[in-house]
Amino acid sequence: MTFPDLRPEIPDIEAIRGAIDVNRPLADLTWFRVGGPAQLLFQPADEADLAAFLQRLPQEIPVLVVGLGSNLLIRDGGVPGVVIRLSPRGFGGVETVDATHLKVGAGVPDKRLAAAALDAGLSGFAFYHGIPGGIGGALKMNAGAHGIETCQRVVEVRAVNRAGEIVRLAADDMGYSYRHSEAAPDLIFTSVLMEGIPEDKDAIRRDMDAVAAHREAAQPIRSRTGGSTFKNPDGHSAWKLVDAAGCRGLRIGGAEVSEMHCNFLLNVDNATAHDLELVGETVRARVLATSGIRLEWEIKRLGLFVEGQEIKEFLGA
Ligand SMILES: Cc1cc2nc3c(=O)[nH]c(=O)nc-3n(C[C@H](O)[C@H](O)[C@H](O)COP(=O)(O)OP(=O)(O)OC[C@H]3O[C@@H](n4cnc5c(N)ncnc54)[C@H](O)[C@@H]3O)c2cc1C
Repeated sequence: MTFPDLRPEIPDIEAIRGAIDVNRPLADLTWFRVGGPAQLLFQPADEADLAAFLQRLPQEIPVLVVGLGSNLLIRDGGVPGVVIRLSPRGFGGVETVDATHLKVGAGVPDKRLAAAALDAGLSGFAFYHGIPGGIGGALKMNAGAHGIETCQRVVEVRAVNRAGEIVRLAADDMGYSYRHSEAAPDLIFTSVLMEGIPEDKDAIRRDMDAVAAHREAAQPIRSRTGGSTFKNPDGHSAWKLVDAAGCRGLRIGGAEVSEMHCNFLLNVDNATAHDLELVGETVRARVLATSGIRLEWEIKRLGLFVEGQEIKEFLGA
C-alpha cells in the first residue's frame, strides 16, 4: 500500500525541524514487527516543533501518536494521515525537581525512568523496570504492574492538542481507570511531573530485581509480542478464560497464542497483522462461546485492513 505524499498540503513545512518521512514502514517501530506504512511519519525535534507542526497541519488530516510500539498492532494496510512518534532525543529527559518529584519526558523508556528513580532514591517506580514501553504510552494506557499503576505517580501532565496548543492536566483530569485514560483523544502527552516516595536505594534495587525475576519466569519477554492482549474482565483473569476456551497455543499463519502465558499473542514466524488479529478475534469468539464473556482488546489496533482481508469483531458472532 502506498499513500499520496502529504507534504504539499502542509504550509511552510520548511520551518519544521523534526524528521519527516513519507510512506515510512512502521513494522520496525513496533514490538510485533508487523504492519504497513504511515502516510507521513513525523518525529518532532521538541515540544515547540510538535506544536508548530500541528498548527500548520490542515484539520482534516488525521493524526495518530505512537510510543515505543509495545502495545500496538498496526494493520497491514498502514495508517492514513500523520503518525507522530516522540523521539527519545527530543522528549527523553528525566529531571529531579525536588526531594520527591521527577519531571519526565514522554519519550523516556519506562525502564530508564525506573533507573532514574533509583538514582534519585525514590520508590514507587520499580514496576516500570518490567514494562517495555515509553512514558507517553504509560500515561495513555495507565500502565501498571505488581499492584501499582501510572495514575498513582502522576501529578501533572503536559500535552499538545490538535490545534497545536499547550495543555496542562492535573492527575484527576486524566480520568484514569484500569489501562485507560479519559483524557481527550487528540492530546499528545509531552512530559509529566511524577511523585515518588524517598526510600533506601538497596530496597529499591531489590524491588527492581524482583520485578525482573518475575518477568523472566512468567512472560515471553524476548518474543515479538504486544504484552497482555485482552483486559481482565471484572472478576476474571483474561488468561484463564482463554485457557478454558482451549486457545493456549492456537496458531494461524505465523501468529500464535503463547504457550507460556496465554494472554500474550506472538509473532512466531513472519506473521502478518492479519494473522495476529485473526488469532485474537478467534480467541474472543471462542471465549464468548464458552463463557459468555466478551473480552476487550488491551492492545491498540491501528490503521487499515488490506482490502479483502477485513476481520469482524468476534468473527461476526
Ligand atoms: C513483553 C511485554 C510486557 C508488557 N507488560 C506490561 C505490564 O506489565 N503492564 C502494562 O500496563 N503494560 C504492559 N505491556 C504493554 C505496554 O508496554 C504498555 O501499555 C506501555 O505503556 C505502552 O507504551 P508504548 O510507549 O509502547 O506505547 P505504544 O504501544 O506505542 O502506544 C500505546 C497507546 O498509547 C498512545 N500513546 C503513545 N504515546 C503517546 C503520547 N505521547 N501521547 C498520547 N498517547 C500516546 C498510542 O496512541 C496508543 O494508543 C507489555 C508489553 C509487552 C510487549
